[in-house]
Amino acid sequence: MNTESYPQLRIDLGKLKDNAQSIASTCADSGIMVSGVVKGCGGMLEVCQAMLDGGCESLGSSRIDQLKEIKKYDGRIETLLLRLPMQSEIDEVIYYADCSLNSDKETLALLNQSCERKNTRHKVVLMADLGDLREGIWYLDDLVELAMFVEFELERIDLHGVGTNLGCYGSIKPTKEKMMELSDSADAIEKAIGRQLDIVSGGATSSYPLVLNQEMPPKINHLRIGENILLGRDLKDYFGISMPEVHSDAFQLYGQIIEIQTKPSYPVGELFIDAFGNKPEYVDKGFRKRAIVAVGKQDFGDHEKLIPLNKEIDLVGSSSDHLIVDLTDDQQHYKTGDVLVFNMYYQPMLHLCANTEISKVFISPE
Ligand SMILES: *Cc1c(COP(=O)(O)O)cnc(C)c1O
Repeated sequence: MNTESYPQLRIDLGKLKDNAQSIASTCADSGIMVSGVVKGCGGMLEVCQAMLDGGCESLGSSRIDQLKEIKKYDGRIETLLLRLPMQSEIDEVIYYADCSLNSDKETLALLNQSCERKNTRHKVVLMADLGDLREGIWYLDDLVELAMFVEFELERIDLHGVGTNLGCYGSIKPTKEKMMELSDSADAIEKAIGRQLDIVSGGATSSYPLVLNQEMPPKINHLRIGENILLGRDLKDYFGISMPEVHSDAFQLYGQIIEIQTKPSYPVGELFIDAFGNKPEYVDKGFRKRAIVAVGKQDFGDHEKLIPLNKEIDLVGSSSDHLIVDLTDDQQHYKTGDVLVFNMYYQPMLHLCANTEISKVFISPE
């Protein structure tokens, strides 16, 4: 890999392993297993391995193509499909996912048929919607009925457990009360089928604070964690949780400066629309020293989700291929050709990892 090629994404595998290790062991202390969620980094196999090395018991993604690559890499890795299966991908789901999250009776019947054709089995976790209004079954009675359908009528499908998802569409916070509701749903299903479920999956990164505060009901024994292992930013910055043991700089963007000029901060001429058809507001700060970095929205999405390491510089704006940075208050005296480094939130990681034009440089612990 050419380390002089920009824009560049540096991925510190040691830090990712550390993060997985600290989160998985904290969860283990409360009897909770962790599926490492790799969709945020496009299912990158190096990252998958770091999560497994850190103690994740399985790997999850919303995309079956990523699970396929994981299975090709090592068929023994336990894979979890996080997005409800499309009817157009049923056979792939059976081949590449050991377990999938589900809420649809017809899809479950199709999974069962596919297993019959292939003479194999598949595990499912039924999703309960506890208010976030994305996937999942709304009424407990319907959930129990679907569980009984899987348990008693689908011979090739193993009812592995029940789960929920919060804080995605409806921005609902996972609370002790919501987790009790899931725990009660699991009890109702177990009563109806006459046996224990293997897993009760209490959500994603946003459920982790309940583990840290030791507030998770004992029945919750599984979480699906992506962001807190990959970036460890949301809980620190949005929930105000102190987690010094979690690194927040395992993914860093390196971009090269292609122009430095002192020019007005307020556009000159008749204000119309920008490159994306928007009419942004501009603040007139007079003449400012500004740099252009050769990386843009096409690479990272929204520049406001990038965090420059140098606190004296300010991200002013971006277009598809350009990032404009205010250097007026900076003491480092950059010149053209210098490189700026950024930490990031989830969205830039998602875009940068998926973009094949970005050089990926892995930093290994040894
Ligand atoms: C993406 C996803 C997760 C992981 O979410 P993070 O916030 O990255 O931890 C868990 N469960 C489901 C169903 C998901 O789609």
